[in-house]
Amino acid sequence: CRILAIETSCDETAVAIVEDGTKVLVSLISSQIETHRQFGGVVPEVASRKHVESITRIIEDALNEADMTLRDMDAIAVTQGPGLIGALLIGSVAAKALALSAGLPLIAVHHIAGHIYANRLVQPLAYPLLALVVSGGHTELVSIERPGRFEIIGRTRDDAVGEAYDKVARALGFPYPGGPHVDRLAVESAQVMPLPRAWLEPGSYDFSFSGLKSAVLAALNTAKMKGEAVDPAALARGFQESVIDVLVEKSMRAVKALGAKQLLLCGGVAANKGLRTALAARCEAEGVPLAVPPLALCTDNAAMIGAAAYLKWQTGEFADLNFKAEPGLSLEEWSVRAD
Ligand code: ATP
Ligand code: MG
Ligand code: FE
Repeated sequence: CRILAIETSCDETAVAIVEDGTKVLVSLISSQIETHRQFGGVVPEVASRKHVESITRIIEDALNEADMTLRDMDAIAVTQGPGLIGALLIGSVAAKALALSAGLPLIAVHHIAGHIYANRLVQPLAYPLLALVVSGGHTELVSIERPGRFEIIGRTRDDAVGEAYDKVARALGFPYPGGPHVDRLAVESAQVMPLPRAWLEPGSYDFSFSGLKSAVLAALNTAKMKGEAVDPAALARGFQESVIDVLVEKSMRAVKALGAKQLLLCGGVAANKGLRTALAARCEAEGVPLAVPPLALCTDNAAMIGAAAYLKWQTGEFADLNFKAEPGLSLEEWSVRAD
C-alpha cells in the first residue's frame, strides 16, 4: 500500500510517499523558518500563504522524485489537526483535490499520532508501549496498548516543553526556534545554575514548565537589575537538566506502572541531545527498550503522517471528502476502531 501524505499543520510544507507505513520512498520538507524568524515566531497568516505558494510544487516534486504518478498511489493522507486552522486547511484542500481527481481514498491523520508513528519508520514496535511526546505544542505521556489505540495518561498543565525552550532561548537572545541553541549551549557548560523541578502531586504523570520558565526569566532580570553577569551556559544547562530530570523520571515510572515493553521518544524536542542521552542511559540501566527517531523524523515531516495513516488504512477508516480540518483534534478520539 502506497500512501501520499501531506503535512501543513504549522510552518513546514511537507509531502512524502510511504509504503506500508514503514518504508519512506520520498520525504520532502519546505521549511518557512527563515520567513518567520524575523517575527520571532510563526505568524499564522504568513504560514498559510507560504503553504499555498509551495504545496502544488512539492507534491509534483515528490511524485517526480519517486518516479511515480498518482496512479501508483493507493491513498492520500493529510494532517487533519491539531495545528493552525489556516495552515491545516491548505493541506486538506490539496489532499481532497488529489483524492477526488485520482479517485483515491482519503485518510485524515492526527499530527501527534504522526510524531509517535515516526518511530515505525525505523523499527517494528513492541506493544503495550509508552510514548513520551515532546514538541512545540504538546508534552504528553501516551499509553498505547495496541496499534493506533491512544490513551493520554499525563500532559502539561501549562507550557509545552518546546514552547518553554523557545521562550528561554528568546530571553537568552537566540533567534526562533531557539530549542536547538539552548541544547547546544547546555552541553557546553561545566557549571549548572540550580533551578526548580515541578513534580506536582505524588503519582501524577502531568507536567508543568511555566514555573521553571519564570525562574529562568527571573534569574536573568535580577542579575540585570543588580548589574551582575549571568553565565548563559550555566543557565541553559540548569534549565535543560530540570526539564530532562522530570521527563525521564515520569516516563520511567509510567513504563513500570503500565508494564510497557518499549518507550518511544517523539516530537520536535526529541531532537534534544541532552534528552536523548539521558533517556538512553536510564533505559539502558533499567533494561527498557527505547526507540528514538533520527533527527529528520523528529521535527515536522510528512513521512510520519504516512506512517500513522497506515493504521487507518488497515482498519478501512477513510475520511469523507468534506471532512473538516480540526485545530483542536483529540488524539484519543482519533484512535482506530476498537474491535
Ligand atoms: P506540535 O507537534 O505540538 O504541533 P510543532 O509541530 O510546532 O508542535 P515540532 O515541529 O514537533 O513542534 O517541534 C518544534 C519544537 O521543537 C520547537 O519548539 C523547537 O524549539 C523544539 N526543538 C527542536 N530541536 C530541539 C532541541 N535540540 N532541543 C530542544 N528543543 C528543540
Ligand atoms: Mg515546526
Ligand atoms: Fe509537530
